[in-house]
Amino acid sequence: MSSSFEQKDAVQRVKDAAQILDIIGECVSLKRAGANMKGLCPFHAEKTPSFMVNPARQSFHCFGCEEGGDVFSFMMKYYNLTFPETLKQLAQRYQITLPERQFSSEDQGKAEKRQKLFDANERAAHMYHEYLLNHAGGAQAREYLKKREITQEMITVFKLGYAPAGWDFLSNKVAKSSITLAEAEEAGLLVRKEKGGFYDRFRDRVLFPIFELTGRVVGFGGRILGEGEPKYLNTPETLIYDKGRMLFGLYQHRDAIRKSRQAVVVEGNFDLLALASYGVGNVVAPLGTALTQAQIRLLKGYADEVILLFDGDEAGIKAAMRSVPLFLAEQVAARVALLPSMHDPDTYIRAHGKEGLEKYLVSALPILEFAFEHLKDKHGTSMMGKGKILEELEPLIQASGSSPFQQSVLISEFSNKLGLDPDQVMEGFKAAARKKTRSKMGRSPVGPAPEETAQINIPLPRNQAQLLEFLVFYPKHLSRFLEAGIEDILVGNPAGSILAALQKLAAEEKEVSGPEHLMENLPEGPARSYVSRLLISSQFLRQDDQEELSEKMAEEMLVWLVRYRFKKEIKQLSDDIGSAQQNQDEKLLEELLFRKAELNKYLASMNVGDN
Ligand SMILES: [Zn+2]
Repeated sequence: MSSSFEQKDAVQRVKDAAQILDIIGECVSLKRAGANMKGLCPFHAEKTPSFMVNPARQSFHCFGCEEGGDVFSFMMKYYNLTFPETLKQLAQRYQITLPERQFSSEDQGKAEKRQKLFDANERAAHMYHEYLLNHAGGAQAREYLKKREITQEMITVFKLGYAPAGWDFLSNKVAKSSITLAEAEEAGLLVRKEKGGFYDRFRDRVLFPIFELTGRVVGFGGRILGEGEPKYLNTPETLIYDKGRMLFGLYQHRDAIRKSRQAVVVEGNFDLLALASYGVGNVVAPLGTALTQAQIRLLKGYADEVILLFDGDEAGIKAAMRSVPLFLAEQVAARVALLPSMHDPDTYIRAHGKEGLEKYLVSALPILEFAFEHLKDKHGTSMMGKGKILEELEPLIQASGSSPFQQSVLISEFSNKLGLDPDQVMEGFKAAARKKTRSKMGRSPVGPAPEETAQINIPLPRNQAQLLEFLVFYPKHLSRFLEAGIEDILVGNPAGSILAALQKLAAEEKEVSGPEHLMENLPEGPARSYVSRLLISSQFLRQDDQEELSEKMAEEMLVWLVRYRFKKEIKQLSDDIGSAQQNQDEKLLEELLFRKAELNKYLASMNVGDN
């Protein structure tokens, strides 16, 4: 066991080495904004960037959702990692050696458990891949992939595998390894038999390992080779596999997506491989389910625009329609390209090549227009049909997050297409909106959805807020403020917790190194969010002559603090004097009056303008 000193040291070394711009820049497109960099927040839906990174302070903060912190908190949140995992990844990346064990047993236990599942998947992926490449039993699978024109390169890049028929290929191997059968079951690789024992989940299937963004295998998708049901089988949800938050191919294709600023979404794994083998490198696929908002949010860090390339059949249309409100809610530009009947992306690119596909993608309809065309087909253009189209279109236009002006442009565009008078349609929309507002009375009728509402997370009076901000940046003055009784006025969360964290740090260390250090010591929540916000926007970030200035400010604030407390006490004394008079308690009254006079004298002697 290493000491907690060694642990702190390791965290600090990793932190010093890690570049927050590199880490966040990989998944958020950042542009310079003064001393900060800014981009679209990966943690909430927005069209205008309010996510800021301060490279000098190695911190980030979102003014939309108040998420904030340092490089560790970003990675934990974005990649859904534990702290030990984050530390390990950063240490590997920046080539820093970590001491053997370094965390509380709870953290360590959770990380170890997850690590076991990663190991199990990693090894299974390797065995299945080897089997596909080299084993005589894999001949049929190799033949199958060849027939589908999946190149050797694709097989390697995606580490495709084959799980042989039979029930115990993997379970036999696991039994002989350091991974337990129960762990392999938890990783979704084995299934427990009712009467005891385990069997392989994947049998006679071509396997597609699912890589998370850090390159570890978290699960598999498998297509049956022969006849049998189901045709596609995926890893169930596990401790490390959440299918709604990952995309097949994103790990391999994110650079291509970032470069083209465009992502193409197809429905199936083979569609993706077909496109990739023809050189279309910016493709991803959801994992056997409809596209989720979390997946769209993931994509927006890499792409400015998403194109859905779906089959033209009913299922394809339905899938595209289902995603319309999600794209609008996430405010990501999207277009839809439905393939001609009889085609899927696989057959289309084989028939028309990369250029043919690119041409086809140019004609993809913006998502609202696609919805409109679909609604027209669905309802027809009778008077009643038109009414229904508008009824379904209205919430979509409202959700599009565009300005009132843009919305009215959209409305008149669609009205014209339907041969209706835009003014009348607009009136109808307004009436519907009024009705909706009435039915929602009690809740806030306008404004952003609750998720997007920024919380003003420190409801402190101005002077108190200034004081707290000052101490966050200049904790060396803390002891003087404590003596002056600051604890009486900075109470409750988050002000109280920030003060407590400052005290704790001061007690532990001879010198507190500033707000970045403080932020590391605050758990996720309003206090940390408050500090990360300051690290992006505080006036103190721009101060040059810090020493002298902070000394002067400390003096001023101390005077204010003492006066504030005196005034508070005087007010309290006045109340007490009132009740002493009522109770005719002469002795108490005398004491109180004396104390009040003393305080007033002292206040006057402080000789500073009254405020
Ligand atoms: Zn945000």
